[in-house]
Amino acid sequence: MKIYNTLTRKKEEFIPLEEGKVRMYVCGPTVYNYIHIGNARPMIVFDTVRRYLEHKGYAVNYVSNFTDVDDKIIKKANEEGVDPSVISERFIAETKKDMESLNVKEATHHPQATQEIGGMIDMIRTLIDKGHAYAVDGTVYFKTRSFKDYGKLSKKNIDDLEAGHRDIKVTGEEGKSDPLDFVLWKPKKEGEPFWKSPWGDGRPGWHIECSEMSKKYLGEEIDIHAGGEDLIFPHHENEIAQSEACNGRPFARYWMHNGFLNIDHVKMSKSLGNFFTVREIGEKYDLQVLRFFMLSAHYRSPLNFSAELMTAAKNSLERILTAVDRLRGLEGVSRAMDAQEQEQLAALDGLCRKFDRAMDDDFNTADAISAVFEMVKLANVQADQNSSAEFIRKFLETIGEYCDVLGIITDKKEELLEDDIEALIEERQAARKAKNFARADEIRQQLLERGIILEDTREGVKWKRA
Ligand code: AMP
Ligand code: ZN
Repeated sequence: MKIYNTLTRKKEEFIPLEEGKVRMYVCGPTVYNYIHIGNARPMIVFDTVRRYLEHKGYAVNYVSNFTDVDDKIIKKANEEGVDPSVISERFIAETKKDMESLNVKEATHHPQATQEIGGMIDMIRTLIDKGHAYAVDGTVYFKTRSFKDYGKLSKKNIDDLEAGHRDIKVTGEEGKSDPLDFVLWKPKKEGEPFWKSPWGDGRPGWHIECSEMSKKYLGEEIDIHAGGEDLIFPHHENEIAQSEACNGRPFARYWMHNGFLNIDHVKMSKSLGNFFTVREIGEKYDLQVLRFFMLSAHYRSPLNFSAELMTAAKNSLERILTAVDRLRGLEGVSRAMDAQEQEQLAALDGLCRKFDRAMDDDFNTADAISAVFEMVKLANVQADQNSSAEFIRKFLETIGEYCDVLGIITDKKEELLEDDIEALIEERQAARKAKNFARADEIRQQLLERGIILEDTREGVKWKRA
């Protein structure tokens, strides 16, 4: 399997540090608002990378953080007159809801910066001890020139950077001995959250968060570090400098970056205001369509969002789901598979290999989707009511399995109607009366899986949608 590594600008054979295991870190969002569909792109593409690695049999330790201390969060908290944690907790919960709607799997760990300050302080202390950082009036800076490989990811030359920085003076950073140095710890300002540190009350810089959380949950050296391409510089360049200077060993072996989601060929971003939130899109489309749309392009290519492309994605997805539905409706004949069916299954197997080959080539999801379309076409032509039940089942299983690698859900969950819910609740009450608690629990669980939560109250059973 080959991965395009931003560090070497080449597709490289993927060899994990530990056989059968992958340690993967994906930079997550700053939580001060609903995520927009640009933020959803790395979530969807790297979730798909993870799913494919799991499909290949790797155990993936997938870590993705929430940046929950930041100027933008503090600003919003001040506007609302609440504590910054109220804002960050609210939007962590909302972001998780969006991720679930996009069928993005929960990470193995979702660390939050504010819960990891102690580890960051330890790292900063080590960097000072090793001569890579210095403190001035409560601010700690990383001494960029002390790290000889600085610029290796973004391919920037440190002297060019220096020339670009010479005239720029940032207020509050007068203590820097070199304009290239960046902040590891900043002193507290009135009305801002702060933590105690050896350099005074304050809070960490953004870059050190990821260096520390990656180290804590995955170890000093990891396999894959990923994020949007805007993070290559300075965020990931600075992460490398901090981690490698602190730990004295390589940080991540493969650096993966997704291209931008654009609108009218301009990067979608909060600051430009040219964005749609995942919530807004979810009101117009099934969010599976958004996921499918994102995967129809290569993750490193820019992708332009438009209603036409979403409609095309919707129609394509519908073709797959309709074929699956038809297969489900076929009972088939109870008999052994005949020779022709065996042959068609071999053809289906060939399409599975085609899917795998596409994904093995730096996660070419567009070609992988083409392979799924071919599977669907084969099913439409070859499977009917005269097919053996086993033949139909094999097609259903295979298409379902490969859709699942892409994170596409093929079993349509019909929304439960109020009448159905009431009927099930009545059945549960009857079961309880008859002391058939197993059945009662089963119904509660069944409803829960369909998003209905039951509450036994003094006035009887109440239900709500999760
Ligand atoms: P932020 O909250 O801005 O730090 O972004 C969280 C993640 O979303 C990062 O990996 C960004 O690179 C990514 N991102 C932000 N905007 C876009 C966009 N328009 N297209 C693709 N990725 C984006
Ligand atoms: Zn990061």
